[in-house]
Amino acid sequence: MTGTTQDDYTDRYARRVRGMTTSEIRALFAVASRPEVVSLAGGQPYIAALPLDAVGEMMNKVGADLGTTSLQYGIGQGTIELREHICQVMELSGITGASPDDVVVTVGGQQALDLVARLFLDPGDVVLAEGPTYVGALGVFQAAQAQVRHVAMDADGLIPAALEEAIVATGGRAKFLYTIPTYQNPAGVTLTEERREQVLDICERHGLLVVEDDPYGMLSFEGETPRPLRARRREGVFYLSTFSKTFAPGLRVGWILAPHAVREKLVMASEANILCPSAFAQSAVTQYLATMPWREQLKTYREIYRDRRDAMLDALRDLMPAGTTWTRPNGGLFVWATIPDGLDSKAMMPRAIAARVAYVPGTGFYADGTGTSNMRLNFSFPPPDRIREGIRRLAGVMEQELALRAVFGPTTPQRRRGPAAADTPGPDLA
Ligand code: PMP
Repeated sequence: MTGTTQDDYTDRYARRVRGMTTSEIRALFAVASRPEVVSLAGGQPYIAALPLDAVGEMMNKVGADLGTTSLQYGIGQGTIELREHICQVMELSGITGASPDDVVVTVGGQQALDLVARLFLDPGDVVLAEGPTYVGALGVFQAAQAQVRHVAMDADGLIPAALEEAIVATGGRAKFLYTIPTYQNPAGVTLTEERREQVLDICERHGLLVVEDDPYGMLSFEGETPRPLRARRREGVFYLSTFSKTFAPGLRVGWILAPHAVREKLVMASEANILCPSAFAQSAVTQYLATMPWREQLKTYREIYRDRRDAMLDALRDLMPAGTTWTRPNGGLFVWATIPDGLDSKAMMPRAIAARVAYVPGTGFYADGTGTSNMRLNFSFPPPDRIREGIRRLAGVMEQELALRAVFGPTTPQRRRGPAAADTPGPDLA
């Protein structure tokens, strides 16, 4: 096949991958990873806050002492030891009495999403999701050839009346609601206690399944974190989470807590997909939870992120041009900003990179081309002084754009675009 071009393959692609196109944003992110650029774009936890020497020693043990199992194939559902630990972790979030039997270990939260999609979505099916929503979920739903209908949020999370309207508007065709109720990615907002009950009632009334994605619930900064939806209803709710943000994303270990009746199908779908999750990674997470002070580590992550969140909110308040607004997250990794009228976050991206700052344009988080007046800003990875410098650079670019527009009118047309999955830019943006 030497000498073949991309065109030679085009007609052969399966329909589900035809919509996957590389975006110009991908190229920009290659530049954004240079050290001189302050990247507010990623979704990376601050791994340097882990006790890396102790983790290293623990990993040695996983290889040297536990190698006969940790380097071997395992069972599709994941080891019983890890599933028991996962049940204890979930207890801490308020999900009590879950059985390890109903837990399926996955390759990160991403495979958990993929499994739910494999289980329930046929081409043309409808998924309801917050607008904006997690870019990687949009990629999964697009690969399943499903259509995403967004449901509006405000500072209190998903708006129940908008959910009901969306369910009715889809004429019962929606398969499930995909929601990130706590410290949402990308919006940083949290569904209130009251709305949690309302959302569950509405879904129950309309027979709609709920896929609750909860990578951030343990990363709270202040106040009580509302209990997950799954802590309130056992049936009809799939609970997805991951160790990526509370321990380490490099191990790629996540899980699904599924209604009992579905668990067997989930395991079969996972086996068809990956045979079994990595035994080594599972051993590492099990050792971490069994032998290391992981609750203390959670506290460390929370304190670091709270300081960084504060640095970002202070910098936004001090430096952003008038007409810019943003969310105030009580946990998680992200602030969602709305920029002044007339600015286009996607069109502005090359100029921001030239000014050595990166963010994610809002369009990546919608399936319908909206989001040009939004951007996602990450505060977990850069230290506070870099966050402030990044916001200073970003504010400078926005001021410049506004000044240009005041003189010449819009310099770049507002662009509408196709499916957001075209922007799915891979791990940089987790
Ligand atoms: N769901 C959400 C809402 C996320 O933000 C992420 C990662 N950023 C994932 C799932 C995927 O998690 P993982 O890295 O464990 O695959």
